[in-house]
Amino acid sequence: MSDIQLSVFDLFKIGPGPSSSHTIGPMKAGYDFIKTVRMLPVETLSKASGLMVHLFGSLSATGKGHGTDRAVLAGLLGHAPESCLPEFLDELAAEPLAQRPMDLGAHSLMINANNVVFDAIEHNFPFNNTMIIRLTGPDAKEAPLFEREYASVGGGFIQIKGKPEKPRGAPAYPYGTMEELKKQLAESDLSLHRLILENEMAVTGAAETEIVAGLDTILQVMDTAVSAGLSVEGVLPGSIGLARKAKQILKRSQGRRYPQETIISQLCAFAFAASEENAAGHIIVTAPTCGSAGIIPAMARIMRTRLALSEQSIREGLLAAAAVGFLAKHNATIAGAEGGCQAEIGVASAMAAAMLAHATGYGVHVTENAAETALEHHLGMTCDPVAGYVQIPCIERNAMSVVKAFTAFVIATDELPGQHKVGLDQAIAAMMATGQDMNCKYKETALGGLAVSVPNC
Ligand code: SF4
Repeated sequence: MSDIQLSVFDLFKIGPGPSSSHTIGPMKAGYDFIKTVRMLPVETLSKASGLMVHLFGSLSATGKGHGTDRAVLAGLLGHAPESCLPEFLDELAAEPLAQRPMDLGAHSLMINANNVVFDAIEHNFPFNNTMIIRLTGPDAKEAPLFEREYASVGGGFIQIKGKPEKPRGAPAYPYGTMEELKKQLAESDLSLHRLILENEMAVTGAAETEIVAGLDTILQVMDTAVSAGLSVEGVLPGSIGLARKAKQILKRSQGRRYPQETIISQLCAFAFAASEENAAGHIIVTAPTCGSAGIIPAMARIMRTRLALSEQSIREGLLAAAAVGFLAKHNATIAGAEGGCQAEIGVASAMAAAMLAHATGYGVHVTENAAETALEHHLGMTCDPVAGYVQIPCIERNAMSVVKAFTAFVIATDELPGQHKVGLDQAIAAMMATGQDMNCKYKETALGGLAVSVPNC
């Protein structure tokens, strides 16, 4: 088994919703393309007179509902996901056919939504979410001046055909599975969060202070998304006309009859809030994807407000959550387009369960069991977003799954040693096998499930 060389910031990325594979990935691809093209020789650039973006697979099937066209255009217009203002994306959505200048250095090319083609859903590219961007000269029949094939492989990650990723450092404590991670923990006598931090420094070369500051920014943006979602009402963008509910759920949580109902309804309100911000195309943190961006922020808010945990404990919990996300990404997938919703919401729930267990002081076995239980009870969950929007079932699903994460934590902390029979590695392997067997109708194409049975949105 190969070693994990992922960074915590590969999983937790700041950017606009509503779908990491359909907005952050394509925006990154557009941004990479324009940066690369600007370095072409002047004589080549002077011939540039056309640009086309071809979206394939799930990007074509549900890209309109997810705003893939405006995301890739925003990237081509020079906006990176971390710094793009939601207002600019709202402008692109409001006036998709307005011509905007794509800056090539010596001159600009005017582009709009007509430069983006929703191409074949079925194809033979190695990755479902593939896009090809071409810069062409005056004769469209001639070979393009420059072309790149990108794959948006989930969680906002992109792969570029023929361009291997930059080498990273070797992890200080290598592991590829949960079993290997537990062995490293036992041999090193490190806590889980410390081991992940040591590996982060070794893999990325960043200093500890830099990583801690980055984690604090991630937690802050997550909390801002929860607060933003709780402060507004109204209807989310798109043809469904779905009302925002977070504020109302929080308000009603005050009058609950039983105390345990209050914590459940607050968890739901917080998860709705961040998920509704994602659906609105506003800034969120992938955790590990946009579609699942409500679960960990909701857990973090409840840890802060109801469990009175310190920021240090929450940060350490976030590192434990990252360990679970790493294992899922390394050994299976975190993309709905590859593995269905079990890979997005299921993994996020497992990460949140691990976060809570670790932050409240439990050891690695309880942390693993909490994560495993949460993931196990999402196995087989399909991705079937109604009308292609990350709204139904996605928003409620975040609320359901943060509650599931809390339940998984309760079950894991009540188990006696040796009672737990399924390992996290086994649950991840089952998720991978289930995802491979899943019909492509249930993998972010909006061609099956609720997307078909709720057709009139
Ligand atoms: S159904 Fe799940 S995987 Fe699919 S878009 Fe919604 S949250 Fe993402």
